Amino acid sequence: MTFPFAEPLVPVDLRPRVIPEPPRPGDPDGEPCRICGQDDGIWSDRNWVLHNPAGGSLPGTVWLASRTHADSFADLSDELATDFGRVAARVERAILSLGDVGRVHVYRWGDGVAHFHVWFMPRPLGMLRRRGTCCRCGRTGCRRRHPKPSTPPAAPSRPPCTPPWTRGRRRGA
Ligand SMILES: [Zn+2]
Repeated sequence: MTFPFAEPLVPVDLRPRVIPEPPRPGDPDGEPCRICGQDDGIWSDRNWVLHNPAGGSLPGTVWLASRTHADSFADLSDELATDFGRVAARVERAILSLGDVGRVHVYRWGDGVAHFHVWFMPRPLGMLRRRGTCCRCGRTGCRRRHPKPSTPPAAPSRPPCTPPWTRGRRRGA
């Protein structure tokens, strides 16, 4: 798999870790959950609601949320965890039926809000730069074990880049 940008990218310093982590919306001490008040989306049943993403640019992308407030897979009841497989397969088949889809990828991050939700994103058929594993050699489908670098990467010799979408904007604008 290759990424749609050219190297060299400039690393930035990692921020210090924050432990304990602050609560997310939907966590017991966090702000109210933003998903619990969800509508019925584009499809729903007694356990799940399927949504169109607002402002998404990849046709066929949807996200699936549990009706009940649970944070992650580990928090789902056995019944819901089992039912997730059934509904995930159904969502995948629906996206594949659109045609022009090479693969449906399933993503679960869940750090924006502590309510179980999973993304389904189709890879357009024939877009082979987005297929394969993410290997540092840059070759699609590489299965070699590459040796780790013997020396750590050098510190950046120039300041971190400014993302193009922020250039020319005043801070806070
Ligand atoms: Zn919730």
